[in-house]
Amino acid sequence: MGHIAVIGGGAAGAAVFGALLRRDDDAVVHWITGRATAGRGVAYATNDDSHLLNVRASSMGLYADQDEDFAQHALRGGTNIRSTDFLPRRIFGDFIEAQVRKRMEAAEQSGRRYKVHATEAMRIDPQVGGYDVLLADGTALHVEAIVLAIGALAPRPLRTVSADALASGAYELDPWSLSQRSRAPRRLIVIGTGLTAVDTLLSASTRWPDAELMAVSRHGLLPFVHPVLPASPFPRQASINASLLACGGTAPMLREIRNALRDTPDVDWRSLIDGMRPINASLWRGLTQSQRRQFLRHARWIWEASRHRVAPGSADTIQQLRDEGRLQVHAARVLGVDGHGPLDVTVRARSSQVLTTLQADLVVQATGLDTAVAFTEHALLSQLIQDGLAMADPLQLGISACPDGRLINKHGDVQPGLYAIGSLLRGNLWECTAMPEIRAAAHALAATLIEDRAQTDVSSTAMA
Ligand SMILES: Cc1cc2nc3c(=O)[nH]c(=O)nc-3n(C[C@H](O)[C@H](O)[C@H](O)COP(=O)(O)OP(=O)(O)OC[C@H]3O[C@@H](n4cnc5c(N)ncnc54)[C@H](O)[C@@H]3O)c2cc1C
Repeated sequence: MGHIAVIGGGAAGAAVFGALLRRDDDAVVHWITGRATAGRGVAYATNDDSHLLNVRASSMGLYADQDEDFAQHALRGGTNIRSTDFLPRRIFGDFIEAQVRKRMEAAEQSGRRYKVHATEAMRIDPQVGGYDVLLADGTALHVEAIVLAIGALAPRPLRTVSADALASGAYELDPWSLSQRSRAPRRLIVIGTGLTAVDTLLSASTRWPDAELMAVSRHGLLPFVHPVLPASPFPRQASINASLLACGGTAPMLREIRNALRDTPDVDWRSLIDGMRPINASLWRGLTQSQRRQFLRHARWIWEASRHRVAPGSADTIQQLRDEGRLQVHAARVLGVDGHGPLDVTVRARSSQVLTTLQADLVVQATGLDTAVAFTEHALLSQLIQDGLAMADPLQLGISACPDGRLINKHGDVQPGLYAIGSLLRGNLWECTAMPEIRAAAHALAATLIEDRAQTDVSSTAMA
């Protein structure tokens, strides 16, 4: 018998925990969830039903070997939906909780042992045959293997935000905490125009119907919209994917995509982007560091908007806000945020290079995932980096790891028994943040962990 620890109480942690409980093995599985409701994490803890999934119900799920279909689960809740709909994220959070509960009940019946720790993991220290994990409640666990499923890092303020602005209370780093603010702003500026910005604007528009809303990002591009019904698969997707894999560079890849779209004008471009999903990680891994840097600098903004699209319902509301003049979207670079509240936000417009200073009672930073572990204040991650058990990705996209999630230590070697899943693996896989990828990775990771244990057992028996 041994012990395995899964650290992180979001959807990825839930998926790995549940996948391990399903495996026939006698290891005790510890799930260290932090203090928030286990399973929901950042994305599915929202109570605001204007926050929609950006994946259709039929493609959402927690486990690769599903206990229950998410769309069926939602239907049973009495909701009038179709499996192709984009449902409120809260409903998926309910689903995660129900699915994990089921696996725990089944584990109890079969004598499979587990323990849920509603606290944070603070340190990991290597010991003979595994690691000691120290929890914030003082518990120390000795485990053979650990999965880090800690999601994205807490956002750091942009460098252009002054200390006064940060201390003023009018600069919000956590877009999900707007409901805790009681005073309505006259003008709210959101920095960022991605999916998080869209959710922030939707919440703000209902909470503060008289507020003037503004969103600013370098390209001023909101996410593209999903079609209401799934588009048909792109013709020749397999051969296009094969050509993309043979490209070796971002510029030829973009050319290949553009040519394919030009040659097939009657087909929805979104189906080509969706059809690349199975090869995105391989495409990324095929790029050199300098090609990856080039992609981040020149193509990331358009890729993110095309790949991570918004649900039609959310897009309609955003369009309505723009039509009513309540929302303005600007392509501009934020050069400074200063003041004691209201704040002065100085921007340089993309088209004219003209500097403008706007006043806002509330500025919300919604600039997307932070994966720069070298600068993080996350206690556990900083300790792992400091002790050399993990290494920052050279482009600050999480930590260095093998494609299967094994961590690479500061010597460039695989750190035995230490794994990661989700956003921390961005540098290695690029796209490993959405449920379709996470559930597949969790399934594979559970299999790897159990195989590793079996091999360790064989070697120790042979040594004896
Ligand atoms: C707003 C938003 C909307 C999204 N919408 C979708 C969608 O519609 N469909 C989709 O497929 N994907 C969506 N995603 C992608 C989403 O990232 C994944 O679906 C999934 O939620 C990621 O879960 P996670 O567990 O990796 O990360 P998180 O949700 O960030 O969870 C990590 C958890 O680990 C905890 N933790 C951190 N450190 C420790 C520690 N030391 N000890 C214990 N616990 C710790 C954190 O507190 C957190 O609860 C969305 C993401 C966001 C942010």
